[in-house]
Amino acid sequence: MPWVSALPDTVDVVEQVTDATSCVSPDAQPRQVRRALSPSRAGDFMQCPLLYRFRVVDRLPEEPSAAAARGTLVHSVLERLFDVPAAERTVEAAIALVAPQWAAVVEQDPQLAALIGEETDEQTWFAEASELVRRWFALEDPTRLEPAERELYVEADVDGLTLRGYIDRLDRAPGEQLRVVDYKTGRSPSELFEAKALFQMKFYALVLWRTRGVVPAMLQLVYLGNGEIVRYVPDERDLLATERKVKAVWAAIERAAHSGDWRPHRTRLCDWCSHQARCPEFGGTPPPLPPDALGVALDPARTGEASPTGED
Ligand code: SF4
Repeated sequence: MPWVSALPDTVDVVEQVTDATSCVSPDAQPRQVRRALSPSRAGDFMQCPLLYRFRVVDRLPEEPSAAAARGTLVHSVLERLFDVPAAERTVEAAIALVAPQWAAVVEQDPQLAALIGEETDEQTWFAEASELVRRWFALEDPTRLEPAERELYVEADVDGLTLRGYIDRLDRAPGEQLRVVDYKTGRSPSELFEAKALFQMKFYALVLWRTRGVVPAMLQLVYLGNGEIVRYVPDERDLLATERKVKAVWAAIERAAHSGDWRPHRTRLCDWCSHQARCPEFGGTPPPLPPDALGVALDPARTGEASPTGED
């Protein structure tokens, strides 16, 4: 099936604030809370409620991660490559984008510049990113693709909860069939991560279904770390189950926000957590909750927690 669309669609951003909740700020002025959830933050809460608190409520800084920065760089290169005409989307053209896109990424987030020198040298850094880009060409042929959307911001209102995020690429086949594509710069997942990756894709599929009335025909995860593609064909039953799950996660977040009880949940994923020093599971003590904890916990949009080049 050719996943080609000659006519880029307009960005379909739905602005809805249909069920705002009032919350009292420290200066006692009521303010509107827009209940919102992205797949990344839902994933954080499912992994560990305390991790959600640290990221969303306390907004604690995290050490810049070389893997995440490399991922942002490669995403940026793959997105920009589609700016040029199809015939010019060669490996060489893509590799030529690596250095300028890194400059653009660092301009957005200057602390990432320190990764070069601390963890690696510039030559190795660019070579590793270029290798991931090269591997993508073995999996997909950009001269035959014309994405309908790239880095598409999507959001949908589900019973007063805004579901939102960024889709790396949306392809549309003749007949309006949609394919949701997500690039992962790591390896295809072990069981530990597989459910998380698929949940994210079903979350996007649910948002598209709710805003466009069409269940995407395919969800495609492109793993550049080991050169594998994982495809999944969702159906309405899947997406209804995802909607129930999202609502249940949100209900649990609301309970934690109101009670202030953000429990740690220790798993193997703690190895990658930046907050062990403050985590009771590792002998630490969380900081006191900030005064606006309730509002921020229920309205992560105000923290700017999703971005086009971020994990969502
Ligand atoms: S170290 Fe583990 S248990 Fe503690 S906050 Fe991080 S993810 Fe949660």
